[in-house]
Amino acid sequence: MKPLLLGAGVPEHQLFIISKTYKTKTLATAFDWLHDLFMSQQYGDCLIVWRSVEPETWERYRLLDVQGLTEQRLLIEKSKPLIRLWKNKRPRLFMNRQKELCPECEETAVFTYETHQYDDLFYIKECTICNKVYRIDK
Ligand SMILES: [Zn+2]
Repeated sequence: MKPLLLGAGVPEHQLFIISKTYKTKTLATAFDWLHDLFMSQQYGDCLIVWRSVEPETWERYRLLDVQGLTEQRLLIEKSKPLIRLWKNKRPRLFMNRQKELCPECEETAVFTYETHQYDDLFYIKECTICNKVYRIDK
């Protein structure tokens, strides 16, 4: 699901889930919401376009900054309703932000989390006050 959502324009950081213990109710709510998204007409419409090209080809388009191909224009068109759905009542689990003490600026700051762009063996978190970026190994 993740490559398609990224391809459809969902920001990487919204697909990151901070690894910590969540309440069962929180997880169940998030799972139901994601399942509804997965079963939606909007997701299905995107999936048809997404599957018209191999995942490696989408990745190559991104790396080489290829734009304006028919399948890309179609994906942009079909992803608009999906993005609207993605923004509607999205559970906090997909928010990737939490308050922590920053060792650098010694403030309690909101940290944003995301996976590293080229290496999924670690992720990064950034302090929203001093912008210090920390690398966290998985
Ligand atoms: Zn800081």
